[in-house]
Amino acid sequence: MFAADGPGYLGGNVLHLLGRAQGLQSEPKGPHGLVAPRGTVMRHESIAELLIAGGRCVLEEREMQADVVVVGERIADIVRPRSRSTAHSIDASSCWVVPGFVDLHVHGGGGADFSDGTVSAAETVLGFHAAHGTTRVVASLVPAELDRLRRTIGILSTSRLPGLLGVHLEGPYVSPAKRGALASAYLRLPDRDEFGRLVAGSGNTVRVVTLAPELPGAADLLAAIRGVGAIPAIGHSEATYEQALAAIESGARHVTHWGNAMSGLHHRAPGVAGAALFDPRVTIELIADGSHVHPSVIRFLVEDLAAREQLRRLSLVSDAIRAAGTPDGPSTVGDLDVAVRGGVASLPDGTLSGSTLTLDVALRNVMGYTGIPLAEAVRLVTRNPASALGEDSVGELRPGAYADAVLLDAELNVRMTIRSGKVIFDSTAART
Ligand SMILES: [Zn+2]
Repeated sequence: MFAADGPGYLGGNVLHLLGRAQGLQSEPKGPHGLVAPRGTVMRHESIAELLIAGGRCVLEEREMQADVVVVGERIADIVRPRSRSTAHSIDASSCWVVPGFVDLHVHGGGGADFSDGTVSAAETVLGFHAAHGTTRVVASLVPAELDRLRRTIGILSTSRLPGLLGVHLEGPYVSPAKRGALASAYLRLPDRDEFGRLVAGSGNTVRVVTLAPELPGAADLLAAIRGVGAIPAIGHSEATYEQALAAIESGARHVTHWGNAMSGLHHRAPGVAGAALFDPRVTIELIADGSHVHPSVIRFLVEDLAAREQLRRLSLVSDAIRAAGTPDGPSTVGDLDVAVRGGVASLPDGTLSGSTLTLDVALRNVMGYTGIPLAEAVRLVTRNPASALGEDSVGELRPGAYADAVLLDAELNVRMTIRSGKVIFDSTAART
């Protein structure tokens, strides 16, 4: 699986952090700090503040041994090894250097959940996923009592946490028949005015809203979601194929955890799953943990989209819950109790309830299931989710983009994670 021309694995303490850039500019300012300077490529001729040196870089068009030159929060240049010098250098010579991972759907991890509604819980979640290569996330919130949900959105929107791209509301306007692990007590019929009150004052924090388009009032709600600049996503839905296509026609542009909690692909009734597969206007999330979707179906999906040159529509998501990174045992999703056995979280009736997946594992899984090369698999956790959100300043290693990078060893384990030019995880430091 590992490309033959990749860097040899040296093992041991191969990463030596010679210095860390100090005095960097401020981080992106919250969910909407990512003002993309596309076209304003920065080619600073000044001394670089940080070099990510000598790694095998996975760039958009090719792979190459290169130094990534970081000035402030952004990539200033990508150059031949040793053609620039700086006081601060990270030796990446035994590693792949790939863009920081972008997770469109994550609830929690490391024992905390965004729904806890505190900044420190959000920091714990972000820190846990950073250790697995994720530099930017959309915080997914399950349905809750509306005032509480509104408060949590407000806290996240004012937190200005680096790495937080915004909020995904997974409901409450979804189908009880496809609720999965969402608490039925908090599910609601679409109400555009109520939705307006829910997101009022949160700026553009809400980026994605999952809804069931077959519910009465869904068309108005869909328009209201678009009206606040968020992406309407079909999910937790038993819509027919025709209803799903009509929703896409009306502006739904994303499908939440494809295959899970939706009408499936039947040969006479292609359902939401089929509409997502066949309509090139929608982007698709996939939980590649091997439990939520069978590996052979993941292989079919990847091969089919690739054959139609539509693999750019697919993003791997974690859908991780607070139990991610913690031992098996009891946990919670929202107000519901779940049990985690062998890393699989489920309700007492056996319904899967989120995952304990991280995107580094998802990356390795999808390569194992499908045989696609690293560069293609990396796009599924970087550029594809970034462009699904319309973020063009993250998800790629290129001059002008935020200096978000992950150093992976030969087995594709995360050795270091860098966000906006700052080291936010270092496996050598973590071991000491
Ligand atoms: Zn979820």
